[in-house]
Amino acid sequence: MEEYEIVIGLEVHTELLTESKLFCGCSTKFGSPPNTQVCSVCAGFPGILPVINKKAVELALKAAIAFNCQPAKFSRFARKNYFYPDLPKNYQISQYEEPLASNGYLLIDGRNIRLKRIHMEEDAGKLIHSQEGENGFSLVDLNRSCLPLIEIVTEPDIRSSIEAEKFLTSLKQILEYLEVSDCNMEEGSLRCDANISVRKKGDKTLGVKAEIKNMNSFKSVRKALDYEAKRQISILKKGGTLRQETRLWNESLQITEEMRTKEEAHDYRYFPEPDLVPLTIDNRWIEEISSQIGELPMQRKERFMKEYNLSEYDAGVLTSAKDMADYFEECVNQYAKPKVIANWIMGDLTALLKLSKKGIKNSPVTPENLVQIVSFIEKGTITGNIGKTVLQECFKTGKKPEEIIKEKKLIHIHDEKIINELIQEIIRENPKAIGDYKNGKKQALSYLIGQIMRKTKGQINPGILKKNLLEYLNKL
Ligand code: ADP
Ligand code: MG
Ligand code: ZN
Repeated sequence: MEEYEIVIGLEVHTELLTESKLFCGCSTKFGSPPNTQVCSVCAGFPGILPVINKKAVELALKAAIAFNCQPAKFSRFARKNYFYPDLPKNYQISQYEEPLASNGYLLIDGRNIRLKRIHMEEDAGKLIHSQEGENGFSLVDLNRSCLPLIEIVTEPDIRSSIEAEKFLTSLKQILEYLEVSDCNMEEGSLRCDANISVRKKGDKTLGVKAEIKNMNSFKSVRKALDYEAKRQISILKKGGTLRQETRLWNESLQITEEMRTKEEAHDYRYFPEPDLVPLTIDNRWIEEISSQIGELPMQRKERFMKEYNLSEYDAGVLTSAKDMADYFEECVNQYAKPKVIANWIMGDLTALLKLSKKGIKNSPVTPENLVQIVSFIEKGTITGNIGKTVLQECFKTGKKPEEIIKEKKLIHIHDEKIINELIQEIIRENPKAIGDYKNGKKQALSYLIGQIMRKTKGQINPGILKKNLLEYLNKL
């Protein structure tokens, strides 16, 4: 393996967050009953005329600018001709020789991965295959037909499967920050084809590539690339030759399988789309969109480290998703204890969200609720442990922490008179531990504290307890 270098280039399709489709007014909403968001345009009736969605162009431009691309002053749509049941027009409107933007880059671990181009295109419909009946059958759902997509194509600059995964993770984060796409992979809003070849280290020319399709997570991209690199290297080592081909990732077998070779590749007979005027983009529009690009993940991470004095790790986790970073800042604006809040978000809250498969944006524990819990703990009204219980209850019911504490009688004992009575009681009941303590066995103190905690089910202010217990013990 060590003699070989791995070369990877990615093609990422991402669905743009518009209300309506790319060339008609149909809704882009996901998950509606089949064929309920379809008109004559997106169903490809003869004689229809597409009209470009300006918002889609704006989102595509926003991505292009954020990825340091050069937007083209003049770009053109093209027809990509092929026959498939999910494509009733028999051609897809895409961009070919004159894409929207080119020559960008994305910085991954200090190295630029160059972006060859970003172009716009419409999505195709979806086939639903059924095994029912004698021979099975397939149905076509055109709700997805004509949804706006951008395709982001990298140069063959990626050198390992891990780097490919990092690239995709960073690309997704940025697209989410920009609100260009929701990048929901389960809903197909982000899809990736991976091109890979291998060559002897030091070789200047590229090896013969395979394009892998059909991976539905970044983890499968990494696994498919690992599998494919090994396969290619072992063929070359045996003296064999590779041929350019398209392969499919088989998730259940964890292998790539041949789909078609270059000889069988389609000739798409691209030609300029005659029904759409070319896109012209002036500097004013570019400037306007540039000014809408807010803080990106890297910048926000650095600001979190400086402004909130967080470690690189904490800042990295909190800014990894825009929603989480927003949630954190909402909390900190109300209660200026960044580190404590970071711990609660990254620990208990994230665990609850994962279990219930909820996003932080829809967290039943609102920033107000979390801040209330944290401040109750800091004031000594409840212990940290009870805070966890309150958080769980708040997550389950959406009730205010204040209410939960009252209802469940979780209020903490911080009345010193009661605490001192408890201390005297525990001293009477544990002569052996007291003797141990006086003989220098300091662990006896934790034992005594543990006894009182058990008696009160943890509902006692630990600070006052420890301070007063020590005073009593030292007087004995
Ligand atoms: P095609 O015309 O086959 O689509 P492109 O030149 O458009 O090929 O490249 C498609 C993708 O494949 C790009 O991401 C590019 O970086 C990548 N790529 C091209 N050649 C190679 C190669 N030899 N090895 C790995 N990736 C490659
Ligand atoms: Mg291609
Ligand atoms: Zn339509």
